[in-house]
Amino acid sequence: MFKTEKQSDLISEQDIWYVEYPIMEHFYTIQGEGAHTGRASYFIRTAGCDVNCWWCDVKESWEEEGHPKMTVRELVDAAKASKAPFVVITGGEPLLHDLLPLTLGLKSEGMKVHIETSGSSPLSGQLDWITLSPKRFKKPTEEVFAYVDELKVVVLTNKDLKWAEDNAAKCPEGTRLLLQPEWETPKSIDLIVDYVKENPEWGISLQTHKFLKVP
Ligand code: SF4
Repeated sequence: MFKTEKQSDLISEQDIWYVEYPIMEHFYTIQGEGAHTGRASYFIRTAGCDVNCWWCDVKESWEEEGHPKMTVRELVDAAKASKAPFVVITGGEPLLHDLLPLTLGLKSEGMKVHIETSGSSPLSGQLDWITLSPKRFKKPTEEVFAYVDELKVVVLTNKDLKWAEDNAAKCPEGTRLLLQPEWETPKSIDLIVDYVKENPEWGISLQTHKFLKVP
């Protein structure tokens, strides 16, 4: 869990509801990946990403421009109406935005807040579950590692297994360690299966929403 202390001189209870974020999409769905796979959740995908993974499957999220802005009030109302037990803030790279207003709004309505991030920008907000998906293209900050609940590394080649080990060494004990094959790189499956058999502290994360054709 990560908690930015609320700065009362910076933001008041009333003001948070008017703060806006560029949003690519938001929808009620099933978490398809990682430790919470299969659970109902509300996804909020912010626009804007400066990491530029060449294999990214949401390239349309990279530019903020062209995506509508939504207020905290609108986003919280939509998530609340879904009755989802938790919200996943993803991107894009969600930490390009100050998440304090949005996460305060969600938590004031009793929702747990998860984030999926490359960790390459400073942490913000109040976060119940942090999934770090570190990218070699723009490395995580050192600050993020102390708060990681789940490390999920996308694997294409052997280099990514080394990258996974380097990042795992910085995470707290008890962090869920997951390797995920890159969807368009089937040879990564053999690499991962062999690696997990040799290193059983790691598990495999699959993009089950793509198998199930759930958005
Ligand atoms: S960090 Fe995520 S959204 Fe950004 S380029 Fe990489 S995969 Fe795409």
